[in-house]
Amino acid sequence: MDFRLSPEEETLRRQVEQFVREELIPLEPVFEGAPDIFEGSRWKSRAKLSRDPEVQRYIAVMEGLKRKAEAGDLWHLDVPKAYGGREVSNVAMIAVTEELEKASVPFELGNHVSNILYACKGEQVERFLLPCIRGEKTACFGLTEPGAGSDPSMMAATAAPDGDYFAINGTKMFPTFGDVAGFVQVFARLPGTKGREGVTCFLVDTGHPGYRVVRSIGTIAGSEPCELVFDNCRVPKNQVLGEVGKGWELNQAWLGARRFQVGIRCHGTAQRVLRRVGALLRLDPREHEKFSASLGHFRGEMEALRSITYHGSWKADQGMDARFEAACVKLFGTELLHRVVDFALEVAGPGALRKEHAIARAFRYARPRRIVEGASEIQRHMIQRALFREGIACMEL
Ligand SMILES: Cc1cc2nc3c(=O)[nH]c(=O)nc-3n(C[C@H](O)[C@H](O)[C@H](O)COP(=O)(O)OP(=O)(O)OC[C@H]3O[C@@H](n4cnc5c(N)ncnc54)[C@H](O)[C@@H]3O)c2cc1C
Repeated sequence: MDFRLSPEEETLRRQVEQFVREELIPLEPVFEGAPDIFEGSRWKSRAKLSRDPEVQRYIAVMEGLKRKAEAGDLWHLDVPKAYGGREVSNVAMIAVTEELEKASVPFELGNHVSNILYACKGEQVERFLLPCIRGEKTACFGLTEPGAGSDPSMMAATAAPDGDYFAINGTKMFPTFGDVAGFVQVFARLPGTKGREGVTCFLVDTGHPGYRVVRSIGTIAGSEPCELVFDNCRVPKNQVLGEVGKGWELNQAWLGARRFQVGIRCHGTAQRVLRRVGALLRLDPREHEKFSASLGHFRGEMEALRSITYHGSWKADQGMDARFEAACVKLFGTELLHRVVDFALEVAGPGALRKEHAIARAFRYARPRRIVEGASEIQRHMIQRALFREGIACMEL
């Protein structure tokens, strides 16, 4: 077994490490005081629409970083070569994110392109995929419904064929950026189907007749998800993403690929939080003594998280089934981060509860992660299913 990155992956990791050291770390004090809108990933869409001169100043800094990253060929890393990207492996993207997470500046390399958009065909490529790759458009994801969250197979939204169109009817809860995105990737089922059958994904422009934003919901998560209603929203057949009735597979692919990134982000955030705790404890040897066992324990658990994240990504790169590892990483990573942040609040005391304190910000990031994109209970359920798949020996445990 060889746990080293390949020479190309190691070269990329070093490039990113240098970028972080030279460009991001020096900006940390600047971003400590950034407006709330720079929490999470809002700077990529919502903040850009703001007219607040202070927000625009920070956006200008981000745009400057983007230009430097582009100049260093660090922008389209996971984009397929066919679309002008470097098409680096999942493992390489984990190494990239691990480096980026060493700085608290909320900067990411690349525009956000939902992986299912690579199923775009024909004119969909020009209209939906390429503008996302170029950063001209953003997309939101419409899966969850009022009665179908943890179990999307209960989805009630329908897409009824009507000549060259489908008429979509239903409500979607929580699509992040549903009010500012250029289009939605919305899932609805063919009439008369149940469970995973008949689920179809559509690409719908957010201004399309029949598409309505009911409200945007302020959350502690650093994003404002929306409630969307589709009221006889007639969408041409050529806006089906992938194949009619094959939307379930697209949904699974989207979630699966994200979980390893969630894991390494949890690792990075936990690391930054523990560094802060370490800096505090260094000032007080008696307090240090009191908390040192917990610090050591967390550090050990973080190493385990890092290992399963790399291992799962490696399996995904080999084309192996990595669903079990993805569920383990999502569960273990988000739960561990939550415990680390809770511990940090305990050590740092009431001062860290200040809204703008880095540990309070980490708390706001950490807690929703245990729910969003598959709650912990659901991951536990998926993991235990693997025991039964593996046979009698495991069942006897
Ligand atoms: C900030 C934020 C952003 C989001 N962004 C998006 C988005 O962009 N697109 C999108 O489609 N959705 C989005 N969501 C929705 C999110 O994915 C769902 O909230 C999540 O999947 C849980 O679904 P639910 O809210 O319907 O909870 P429910 O399914 O009602 O579950 C509630 C709780 O019950 C427990 N539970 C449920 N089922 C079981 C079970 N079988 N066994 C044991 N326990 C169970 C779990 O602990 C769960 O947390 C977002 C949510 C938030 C908060």
